[in-house]
Order: sequence, then structure tokens, then C-alpha cells
Amino acid sequence: MGTLLETYDARRKATMLSEQEIQELRSKYYNATVTSIRKPHDELMVIRVTPDFPIPPHKAGQYTTLGLGYWEPRVPGAQEETLKPQDYRKVVRRAYSLSSSIWKNGELIEPEDETYLEFYIVLVKRSNGHAPALTPRLFMLNEGDRLVCGPKITGHYTLEGVRPDDRVVFLATGTGEAPHNKMILELIRSGHRGPIGSAVCVRYRRDLAYIEAHRRLEQYRPDYRYITLTTREPEVMGRKKYIQDILRSGELEERLGWELDPRCTHVFLCGNPAMIGAPKKDASGNLVFPQPTGAVELLVRRGFKIHHPKDPGNIHFEEYW
Ligand SMILES: Cc1cc2nc3c(=O)[nH]c(=O)nc-3n(C[C@H](O)[C@H](O)[C@H](O)COP(=O)(O)OP(=O)(O)OC[C@H]3O[C@@H](n4cnc5c(N)ncnc54)[C@H](O)[C@@H]3O)c2cc1C
Repeated sequence: MGTLLETYDARRKATMLSEQEIQELRSKYYNATVTSIRKPHDELMVIRVTPDFPIPPHKAGQYTTLGLGYWEPRVPGAQEETLKPQDYRKVVRRAYSLSSSIWKNGELIEPEDETYLEFYIVLVKRSNGHAPALTPRLFMLNEGDRLVCGPKITGHYTLEGVRPDDRVVFLATGTGEAPHNKMILELIRSGHRGPIGSAVCVRYRRDLAYIEAHRRLEQYRPDYRYITLTTREPEVMGRKKYIQDILRSGELEERLGWELDPRCTHVFLCGNPAMIGAPKKDASGNLVFPQPTGAVELLVRRGFKIHHPKDPGNIHFEEYW
């Protein structure tokens, strides 16, 4: 505890702001309260935030922003930041997809239960570029603490275009599962008839924060499949598989129990850009895919088409960075 207090104290000195100035900045900017936090481990959290304003209308799959002042403390051990004195008065905001725990007291969550916004966030302690600004601060939050929540919920990563009998598969890395949880709940609540599958690739089993909700869903709906891949557990050493590998080898379809037929299937991809492998267009309008090959290229080769709001398709993706 001594260490934590010392960290706080050092931070206060570093910001060069008095306690009163900090309280004033918080009152000026913060417009939401943390109503619950679940941490499967120190670097992963499911956090519910209740804004001071009515929750804006939104669709499953969309995102909003969360923010905290640079004056707030950071988790010990996070990459050091270099800030100018004036920066300590600013707020850092980042995009976060809306997630869902799917179940409440053994029943599917109903829209009227959603009096909060749920987020699924991983701590980024260090990166190759600039020091991560927000997550080292978000992971210091406790229930009852205040923060910034964006006034709008937005984004094109939605279920638009999915017909009730379509097959739908969600493919994610890590917290890229967040929007999928809410989309799966939405499909089930709206009486979706086609089969639904969700696959996620994480480092360790402990990184599967929603596994119980998905296993329960498999019981509730026998055509639902939840597929997990871990890359750092001892038993997968030397034979680890990523989402792209099971897509390429046919293992994904085998485990789903149905074929990825582009005529009746939508694929949603969210998280690490390397898994997604989104192409760019060259001067002649041809798609140029990145290396190594990502999921989008594998799907395009099989006859799938990238979705654009004005040119609908059946490959949908959201890159987290
Ligand atoms: C539309 C959208 C929705 C998003 N939704 C979520 C979400 O639901 N949950 C979530 O955890 N993140 C989500 N992100 C990422 C989020 O916005 C932040 O970038 C992330 O939380 C890190 O913030 P930071 O300020 O600590 O570091 P930043 O300064 O934002 O990032 C520093 C570096 O960390 C790496 N990084 C960023 N995000 C991750 C990650 N999730 N895992 C591993 N490395 C990462 C990248 O290399 C990045 O350049 C989303 C991003 C976008 C664009």
C-alpha cells in the first residue's frame, strides 16, 4: 500500500496541480460513473459505466469513447510518458466498442436492463511507439469513480444487411470480442434463425473473460458454437494456431459444423489488424493485401466481398489500432 501511495504522491508532484485544481478539472470534464468492475486478472477488465445523460440510441457493434485526465495516476510499471506541464490539464480519449455480458440472473439481458454501457478492455502497458496514455489510467479506476464518456455511440460495424436465416460467424483477437458479445445477444433477442458462431484467439485461458456466458449460450442454443484458441499455454507450444490458420485449414468450419458459404454467410472480424489483414487500393483500384496473409484475403479468395455502407458485402471488420 505504501508503494501505491508513494506512486500517487509522485504523480501529484509530477502534474504540478493542487488537489483542488484536480477536483475542479474532474468536475469540469467528467460526465459518467463507474458502476461495476470485474477483473479476471490485473490486465483485463469488464467495466460498466453509467453516463449522467440518457444512453444515446445505438446499434450492437458500435463504439463510443472513454476518457480520463492526464492528471490521473497510472498503473505502476507502465511505460513512462513524456508530457509538457500544460498537458496535465488535458483529457485523453480513446474508442471502445460496447460489449455485453449476455446474461442477467440466468436470463438473456433485455434492452430495459441496459441502464449502463459495458466495455471490455485490456491494459496496454507499453507499445513500440508513444507510451499508452489511457489504459494505464483506466486500470486505476474503482467503482464509484468518475470519467469521461462520449456523448455519441457510432460506427459502421453493425449487423446491417444480415438476414434472419444467414449464417453468422464472429472472429476476434482478445478484447475484439467486445462488439461480438453485444451483436450475438442482439441476434438471439431478435429471433435470428441461422446458425451463429464466435471464435476468439487469446494468449492465455485466463484472457477469456466471457467464456462462461458463451458456454451457457451453447447450452441455450444448440446451433451456437464458441471456439477458443490460446497461443501461450504450455500445451500449444510449437503448434499454436491463429484465427487465420483455422480459417485456412478448414478447422473453423469443422468446429462450427457448417460451411462458410459466401451466398448465405456474414463474417465479422475485430481486433488485431494483423488477424484482419485489411487491404488497401492501388492507383488502378485493385486490392493490395498486407503480408502475412490475414482473414480478409482468405475470405475474398473464397468469394466473400468486403462490406462498405454504400456497397454492401459480407466481410465486416473493425481494427483496434
Ligand atoms: C473503433 C475502436 C474500438 C475499440 N474498442 C476497444 C475495446 O473494446 N477494447 C479494447 O481493449 N480496445 C479497444 N480499442 C483500442 C482503444 O481505443 C485503445 O487504443 C487501447 O485501449 C489502448 O489505449 P492507450 O491509450 O492505453 O494506448 P494507445 O496510445 O491508444 O495505443 C498504443 C498502442 O497500443 C497498441 N494497442 C492498442 N489497443 C490494443 C489492444 N486492444 N491490444 C493490444 N495492443 C493494443 C497499439 O500498438 C497502439 O498503437 C478500440 C479501438 C477502436 C479504433
